[in-house]
Amino acid sequence: MKIIIVGTGISGLTAYHFLHRFLTPIIPDLEIDAYESYSTPSIGIGGTLGLAPNGLYTIKLISEQAHATILSSGFPCAKFEFRNSKGKVLGLMPVGSPERYPGTGGEVMHSRSAIYEEILKVLEGQGARIHYGKTVTAVTPKEEGVEVTFEDGEVKMADLVIGADGIKSTVRRAVFPGVEARFEGLVGVGSTVPYSAIPSSEHPREIPYDYKNTKYSPTVMTHGSNGFFGYSPINPKTGDEGRYQWWSTAESDSESRDLPIEEIERQLLERHKDWVNPQGEKVIESIIRFAIQQHKDSADTDRSKRILVLPNYYMQIMERYHSDDGRILLMGDSAHVMPPHSGQGVSLASEDGYVYARLLAHEIQRTKATETNDYKAALSTAGKYYTEMRKPRNDKIMAVAARAGNMKRNLSWWEEKSRDFFFGLFLRFAPESMHDGTFGYKVDEEVDKFLKTRP
Ligand SMILES: Cc1cc2nc3c(=O)[nH]c(=O)nc-3n(C[C@H](O)[C@H](O)[C@H](O)COP(=O)(O)OP(=O)(O)OC[C@H]3O[C@@H](n4cnc5c(N)ncnc54)[C@H](O)[C@@H]3O)c2cc1C
Repeated sequence: MKIIIVGTGISGLTAYHFLHRFLTPIIPDLEIDAYESYSTPSIGIGGTLGLAPNGLYTIKLISEQAHATILSSGFPCAKFEFRNSKGKVLGLMPVGSPERYPGTGGEVMHSRSAIYEEILKVLEGQGARIHYGKTVTAVTPKEEGVEVTFEDGEVKMADLVIGADGIKSTVRRAVFPGVEARFEGLVGVGSTVPYSAIPSSEHPREIPYDYKNTKYSPTVMTHGSNGFFGYSPINPKTGDEGRYQWWSTAESDSESRDLPIEEIERQLLERHKDWVNPQGEKVIESIIRFAIQQHKDSADTDRSKRILVLPNYYMQIMERYHSDDGRILLMGDSAHVMPPHSGQGVSLASEDGYVYARLLAHEIQRTKATETNDYKAALSTAGKYYTEMRKPRNDKIMAVAARAGNMKRNLSWWEEKSRDFFFGLFLRFAPESMHDGTFGYKVDEEVDKFLKTRP
């Protein structure tokens, strides 16, 4: 059986790992190849993100070592502190403590690249066939298999093609022409800065952050009437080794990522000019000034100091993630674009890979496909089951993320006041259990439960 994976972001890598793990013992002639547009692994590229307990749970299924490294090198933050731009603390939101989600480590703030690198190491260790500098331009179903065409003219055939090629997926276009991700009118801008760039009044009062006994969090989310500004440590270090992430999100007419730094500077300073912390300090303005200077001083090659512009996208809810015959599948952002405010992009992408690999292995065994070398029935049913299991969960999380994004849009005086009141009230009573459906999801147990209801 030949499988082609298009794209090696988090969803492509996890899909590769789990397909390899669950299919190798049952398919003697298994061949999996992954093709990636980037000419080299995307090490050091990208910004930072929150990795949720359910994502950490799935990463632990890939490798206990990767999980332990990610956990110990990121910043665990079981609570977010919400403020308004006038320095009023609206409240604390529980976002996943290690006690509530045992074995996961809880929520961590980290760089996307560090998570990617740990998973990539596992794949390299298992001898994964990843081909860089290979852009797929077309995916065409044929009688004898699925034809994959590359930019350089090469053509390959496969029994199964997995589209893990992100927001602007080429594979999606082959299965669902016309379904495109669209700019949602919000743009995030951010980078990382050293610990010293953050005024000491905002530093963690203790490391590790004692979320159980304090009513503050060093992970701060500030909402204004014209956007949002967040900052958080991304590693458990202080002083020279400590690093913070920051990001500003606001409405924009343009999805261009190539704004001149002077224009980014002007927009950021204008947007956040009177924003203060509870002590009346202009913390946000000082972070912006530091980050802009750092960007201007850095050489183009030092990506860690550059400011990233990330337009946010949304996509209509897909009817399904599989082609009729199950020979073409979508995973991660190609199936369900997750905006950054979902906090679930990496987590759901890795769950997708696990679920599909288990379902396909189950169907191959059930239909005894290896004996006849005919995988059609197994692929068709596994595709349907995959959509059935993943879509309700992903759709729900996408809807929650859309609501979170709306809080970052421009608000009238009245809307701002009611947001502060109702959101503050919500935070006062928000139970820790409110995220259980999302964070408490144990992907292996969910597949077990699902398969018990099937032949
Ligand atoms: C370099 C990079 C940096 C990122 N930084 C952040 C961040 O700072 N914050 C955040 O919230 N999210 C970030 N993301 C997105 C986040 O990682 C994803 O939302 C999430 O992990 C889901 O991943 P995915 O694998 O589905 O898609 P992606 O992570 O987008 O991966 C898709 C992969 O497919 C490749 N690809 C696309 N088209 C083709 C093609 N035609 N042929 C071959 N390969 C193709 C891409 O090069 C990419 O490596 C980043 C993604 C990338 C690729």
